[in-house]
Amino acid sequence: MTRPVVLVLIDGLGYETAIQRLGYMEGLAAAGVARRWRMRTELPSLSRPLYETVHTGVAPHEHGITSNDTVRLSSQPSVFSVARAAGRKTGAAAYYWFSELYNRAPFKALHDIEIDDPGQIIQHGRFYQHSDFPDSELFHRAALLADRFRPDFLLVHPMGADTTGHRFGGRSKQYETVALQIDNQLAAHLPRWREAGYDVMVTADHGMDEHGNHGGSVDIHCLVPFYHVGAGVKGGIVPDEVSQTSVAPTVLNAMGLAPPASMKARPLT
Ligand SMILES: [Zn+2]
Repeated sequence: MTRPVVLVLIDGLGYETAIQRLGYMEGLAAAGVARRWRMRTELPSLSRPLYETVHTGVAPHEHGITSNDTVRLSSQPSVFSVARAAGRKTGAAAYYWFSELYNRAPFKALHDIEIDDPGQIIQHGRFYQHSDFPDSELFHRAALLADRFRPDFLLVHPMGADTTGHRFGGRSKQYETVALQIDNQLAAHLPRWREAGYDVMVTADHGMDEHGNHGGSVDIHCLVPFYHVGAGVKGGIVPDEVSQTSVAPTVLNAMGLAPPASMKARPLT
């Protein structure tokens, strides 16, 4: 298998809300087009530590990005670095913390906010700094990157669910509405990416509780969905719970790249 991959990492969208509100994605799973797992995050269930876990397959206590305040470059092989070392093209439309993990820390907006540089780990980057950056704009920037540069790995990272969940709580009307809007974005863009030959994976870094918090070990913080739509991927809903450390090796496997020894979980597909 050597397929390019789009990974949509929905910040702060927990499992329960996802399977109840992502109607397009659930329709794909029910029709046998997407395969969907219930995934347990690593701990703490916070963004920066789990951005690194999703992309390296390594738990926070090992990779060392243990809090949102740990501002430094990643020290682990990641999906981005493994792809680039193999001569593949990388891209991301994502929050600026991704630039700090893989390109440069701390973030210098005037230099780092828009990157097209083959020397970087994330070669084509469109980064945003404001947590209210609209998800629809983010999806369009990602779609433009895919059309213009055709990266072999493209991260798409909308922040709206996390921001809205913190503001109104993870059981609020507002949070559920954002989930529906993200599903609508997926419905618009996923078919185009599939037509362009991409495998598409959709997951979240962590969930959100009714008080607008995450970071702990309760299920509502730690359960997220993982969907894979791709050529030869058997659709359906998998009853077993899987680990978030599986994401990175699953991405590399789809791309036909061998996961490094640091990624200990087996690919899901
Ligand atoms: Zn958050």
